[in-house]
Amino acid sequence: MMGGATARVPAKINLHLGVGPLRDDGYHELSTLYCALSLYDEVTVRGDDALSVTVRGENRRQVPSDATNLAARAVVALARHAGMDPHVAITIDKTIPVAGGMAGGSADAAGALVAAARLWRLDIARDELLAIAAELGSDVPFSVVGGAALGTGRGEQLLPVLHRGALHWVLAVSGSGLSTPDVYREIDRLRARDGDDQPAAAGVARPDELMQALASGDVRAVAPLLHNDLQPAALSLQPMLRRTLRAGREAGALAGIVSGSGPTCAFLCADEDAAVRVAAELSGSGVAKAVRTASGPVAGARLIAVN
Ligand code: ATP
Repeated sequence: MMGGATARVPAKINLHLGVGPLRDDGYHELSTLYCALSLYDEVTVRGDDALSVTVRGENRRQVPSDATNLAARAVVALARHAGMDPHVAITIDKTIPVAGGMAGGSADAAGALVAAARLWRLDIARDELLAIAAELGSDVPFSVVGGAALGTGRGEQLLPVLHRGALHWVLAVSGSGLSTPDVYREIDRLRARDGDDQPAAAGVARPDELMQALASGDVRAVAPLLHNDLQPAALSLQPMLRRTLRAGREAGALAGIVSGSGPTCAFLCADEDAAVRVAAELSGSGVAKAVRTASGPVAGARLIAVN
């Protein structure tokens, strides 16, 4: 079957990331509030004689172009589910920072699922697609769904969260990435050192106050409630991020946090104009490899072209 389909998929940040105890399956119990941001990868899937991956964009060299690419794994998983051959050419136009704590790989997997399901004209229920997504990675279901959502379990169990208006962000992208497993290992190490290796229920409490602030649309109520349990671990592995966080606040952001497992830092700004000013100042300060503005919540993986 030839022809092609393209999906556009957003990056995410975690407005709240509570990390509970390590589970028997090796994952940590999480309570997280995801927010999809207007920074997108595009994933095109075309019928071909074999499975292939091409990555385009300035970060392409950091992304595998073999069967280990998460988009390729997504196509293989969906093909197996549907009894198809996974013979497609995948092209990823990459804008989301790689290993930046913004779920770039998960976004590509979500885009590949949505695009391949359309290419093959699969009659697949949303829940089935989300179950395949969850097997590919904890953040993949959210990349499909987008918006704002509460994630529990290892992040894959989602509940949509009410939100009003858009939040305006500045993202400071670091020159070197952080591996998510390394950051989780570091939080375990820090907790063991501090005698806090059983964070129990408090670590995974639902961020009710933040959810109320999001529903109210009051950015100044949201700002002080941003929280990331992984931040100390990311700062421990990349101490320079302290300077980045300070520079963002000094540039006029309402608040700044490390995004997910980092090292991207996300700064919440009062409005779009403020975000442009903060971005300009941060760019000049030299603390980040790249500085971007983005807003959110935005929709999850969406088809943008079919032919
Ligand atoms: P998360 O926020 O979900 O923890 P991340 O944003 O920190 O993840 P990714 O950009 O998803 O990190 O990349 C993590 C690693 O996954 C990369 O170093 C890369 O080797 C591998 N990878 C596999 N497929 C992809 C893909 N399609 N895009 C980016 N990285 C990929």
